[in-house]
Amino acid sequence: MGFRRQLVYHLHFWACLAVAPLIVVQWLHQNYLLSALLFLFCANALLVIGFLRFRQHYFLRGWLFPLLAMSCAVYSTAINGHVGLYWAYPAITAVFFLMPLRDAAISNFVFLTLMAVTAFYVFPLSEFWRITTSLGLTCLFALIFAWLVGRLQQEMTELATTDPLTGCRNRATLAESLTNQIKLCKRYGRPSSILLLDLDHFKAINDNWGHHIGDTVLAGIARLLSNRLRDNDHIFRIGGEEFMVLLPETSLPEAETLARELVKSVAVEPFQTGIGVTISGGLTQACANETWSVWLKRADQALYKAKSDGRNRVVQLTGSSPPADIGLQGDR
Ligand code: GH3
Ligand code: MG
Ligand code: MG
Repeated sequence: MGFRRQLVYHLHFWACLAVAPLIVVQWLHQNYLLSALLFLFCANALLVIGFLRFRQHYFLRGWLFPLLAMSCAVYSTAINGHVGLYWAYPAITAVFFLMPLRDAAISNFVFLTLMAVTAFYVFPLSEFWRITTSLGLTCLFALIFAWLVGRLQQEMTELATTDPLTGCRNRATLAESLTNQIKLCKRYGRPSSILLLDLDHFKAINDNWGHHIGDTVLAGIARLLSNRLRDNDHIFRIGGEEFMVLLPETSLPEAETLARELVKSVAVEPFQTGIGVTISGGLTQACANETWSVWLKRADQALYKAKSDGRNRVVQLTGSSPPADIGLQGDR
């Protein structure tokens, strides 16, 4: 279970456990409406927990929690005074961790306003100010904390999925990205291609010029690729000197033109070092009923053929045919 889901799961679990006895308590006090609202709150919590466990899905995207928590806290404060008010504090805090920040801020603004109006009628004026200010501050602190946690999580995800040398994606999200494209191909017949690129004789560059120059070339290749490719294309660094370009909405003939152009531009680029570098590529389009690893394996076979055919070229391979060398013949 992901970080967010765990948070949602635990908050609903503990909230349900804490609130469940109050259903009986309020029933015994003959507060039947409040007892019913608390029952709905617990039922929603159980549904959220169940859906997360068995369907990997956030029931109604968490919208019932603030709605029911708000109704319970406001109504309970109206009829029970302080006893109801105490529950508004954890509820307001939890909402920030259960929903997207913007939605949570909007729903808590409504929550705060309703609590302020209720407090105005239920408590003396001096208490009304204290209640509104302390609830407002709780809301503000929780908002800042939730925002910081969200940003930290974003930064950590970026660190875990990005290659520091080139800024390309690393292998962490490779399987997911390829699988998504195969699903689109299967469901809507959308074409998608991958181009596997491997620098030629890169070991010799490191040996002759040093690793530092090798690193400069790798970063330069990544820059060249990202300058040329579209925003929705994805570049992965999947090995030391091996890149994979994912080209959504691109059929094999379209990808072929692009691949030729890329291989050609690498060969003429000095990469701030003045060393000539070439690259070889294996190109293939997704088939609807294959797995991502089979798709990638086919690109790897095409790349292997490009290397054995003499490097500095692209070889394409379709799902059923033998490798076809589209090389750079005529371009050289
Ligand atoms: P081929 O044309 O067959 O691909 O030959 P090659 O020399 O490129 O391939 P080989 O697999 O023999 O060597 C890959 C080299 O890539 C080995 C290693 O020195 C270099 N390499 C891998 N990762 C890095 C890196 O992060 N930085 C640098 N500078 N070099 C790297
Ligand atoms: Mg190589
Ligand atoms: Mg290699």
